Amino acid sequence: MLSPLPLTEPHPFQPVRVALTCGLAALVLAAPTLAAGPVAEGPAKSSVAKKSVAPARSASSAKSPAAAKSMAAKATVPATSTAAGAATATATAAACDSVMRRLPNVSRPLCLAAELEPGTGRSVKGVPLFTRDIRTEGAKLRVLVMGGIHGDELSAGSLAIHWMAMAKQPAQMPQPVHWRFIPVLNPDGVLAQPPRRVNANGVDLNRNFPTPNWERDAAVYWEQRTRKDPRRWPGKRPLSEPETRYLHEQMQSFKPHLIVAIHAPYGVLDFDGPSVPPSKLGRLYLDQVGIFPGSLGNYGGVHKGVPVVTIELPNSMRTPLDAEMRQMWLDLLRWMSEKAVGSLGNGGR
Ligand SMILES: [Zn+2]
Repeated sequence: MLSPLPLTEPHPFQPVRVALTCGLAALVLAAPTLAAGPVAEGPAKSSVAKKSVAPARSASSAKSPAAAKSMAAKATVPATSTAAGAATATATAAACDSVMRRLPNVSRPLCLAAELEPGTGRSVKGVPLFTRDIRTEGAKLRVLVMGGIHGDELSAGSLAIHWMAMAKQPAQMPQPVHWRFIPVLNPDGVLAQPPRRVNANGVDLNRNFPTPNWERDAAVYWEQRTRKDPRRWPGKRPLSEPETRYLHEQMQSFKPHLIVAIHAPYGVLDFDGPSVPPSKLGRLYLDQVGIFPGSLGNYGGVHKGVPVVTIELPNSMRTPLDAEMRQMWLDLLRWMSEKAVGSLGNGGR
């Protein structure tokens, strides 16, 4: 359904990455700064998360393990007993009945367990950019996981939702991690009939990040390399879209040590930025093929110094099997554990 750019065309940019037209499966490891994040609003605690995961709001002021423990103990009081918690529960249900309902292999119970929160971001059409923090006590490593920046890659959002359930099982993690999940960054594209890669303004969000010389390079790339493919229009200016501005804000406030971006359907693993990339996640093997003006990998990995793992699932409409999704998760955790905290990145320049 997606037409890759021709691989043989000459290209004005160096280095060039043309095999991945979607180019942004991002796994971001971020810092525990929760100040303005959407998670500080009193997450509704499900029975799944209640005992095993410290709510993100407890993280910001925890200075020591003891303090963290104390904060976590306080914060595990079910927020659903509060008005804010009830509102969040309502928003979560609304998400599961609208945007997330379009995702393959995401049951309503799985979606509800994700406890998505509307946060502060909105799409062009006003749809919340649902976000959720999942934090294990003592976490120093911040990872941002983003899916669905391209609205027609439905399996990307699904994988993020499945991983959220796994992130709530900290016993499996070699080290405590503060995760921030944004499973669907482009809800307007997901909700379109049929789903669309671009957002409601017709912008390819993964070409809209403020890489150096964007004004010149993004336009040249679009006009010459894509021959003005409407599916790949970078927009009028960098960060012109509310969806990209939201992710950019998250990068600045959360300061991830690692970003994981999930895409489809090219069936490879890509990596930008410092650190040694993972050689494989599940059945996806590393294939670094180039960069695009305005892409998240280019902006985050090359220019901000935040490692960006880009996952290209093999199918846009179907998720991998459950066992494969779990293996990818375990491979990711293993790779992260092989890096000392901080060696993945410093939270960005
Ligand atoms: Zn994509």
